[in-house]
Amino acid sequence: EHHQHFVSGSIGISIAPDDSTDLNELIQFADSAMYKSKNDGKDRYNFYNAQMTKDAKERFILKTTLHYALKNNELDIYFQPQIDKEDNLIGAEVLVRWNHPNKGIVSPYHFIPLAIELGIIDKVDLWVIENAIIQHTKWQQKGLKVGILSCNITMYDIEKDRFIDDIKSLIHKHNFNPYYLNLEVTEETIMKNPKKSIAVLNKLKNLGININIDDFGTGYSSFSHFVEIIERIPVKLLKIDGSYVKKIPESEKAEKIVKTVNSMAHSLNIKTVAEFVENEKIVEKLEKLGVDYAQGHYFEEPRILV
Ligand code: C2E
Ligand code: MG
Ligand code: MG
Repeated sequence: EHHQHFVSGSIGISIAPDDSTDLNELIQFADSAMYKSKNDGKDRYNFYNAQMTKDAKERFILKTTLHYALKNNELDIYFQPQIDKEDNLIGAEVLVRWNHPNKGIVSPYHFIPLAIELGIIDKVDLWVIENAIIQHTKWQQKGLKVGILSCNITMYDIEKDRFIDDIKSLIHKHNFNPYYLNLEVTEETIMKNPKKSIAVLNKLKNLGININIDDFGTGYSSFSHFVEIIERIPVKLLKIDGSYVKKIPESEKAEKIVKTVNSMAHSLNIKTVAEFVENEKIVEKLEKLGVDYAQGHYFEEPRILV
């Protein structure tokens, strides 16, 4: 349809006879090296080394035990506040952690990709959303105003036929006001499947749930194509990717990117959130640039709240 697409390659390399002389093992080693390339951010190559076999074993152990994490109640939700220009609390992002019986706290960066591979990411995300709803209801009953909770979802949720019905059931089950729930989808997810994203995100909006675009600036989308898509999605907040935000005190280029993204969002009537706000210098710059909201370690690290 005359759209421009950006394709990247993640490559793993193993070499005979140095790494192995067995064909299957060579392929397996190249595969481990390819996973490293993907995990390092894609669009790069890596040569195999022995540490990768150790990492692959670790992955395997995590993957097999992740099946039991939900059943054994090993997941926790952490909250990170989001602040407006006058330092008022507007809400919080809900971030999942896996409290592994032997390994301690496992980051979602490690286990979300495994949950996707296992095909249980929708169960994880629905668990997170339901527990966020339960916690919000408890706070409201105590008279505490925490604002809007934002939960993360993936492409695999959007592509599941039952997702909308599952969310609808959760809202009804807990008699929850959907105004207090935002769902975050990355720019990358939307641009990978714009048609489905537009359909599903509009259905969520019809349920009363607002949509945030996460990690904006890393999805490699062409600008005109993105604007065309975004105008068909009811977006409430656009989150400027932390990799730019945290560099604005020392990088003019990062500052220009944040400034441009911020004006683009405002011209589409979308409010902006800066993530990875780590120090006062960043806060000062963001104020100058007119970014609406902020979230980051400078204000508070994600933590369990009851
Ligand atoms: P995200 O949605 O972009 O979340 C922001 C990440 O930045 C969080 O990492 C947060 O802890 C971290 N962060 C917050 N403030 C700062 C800061 O000032 N500096 C730095 N360097 N980092 C900061 P976390 O909690 O490890 O989550 C990582 C990613 O995992 C999230 O990125 C999100 O994509 C995914 N994730 C987390 N919870 C869920 C979930 O329930 N479902 C799904 N599908 N994905 C989740
Ligand atoms: Mg997020
Ligand atoms: Mg983000």
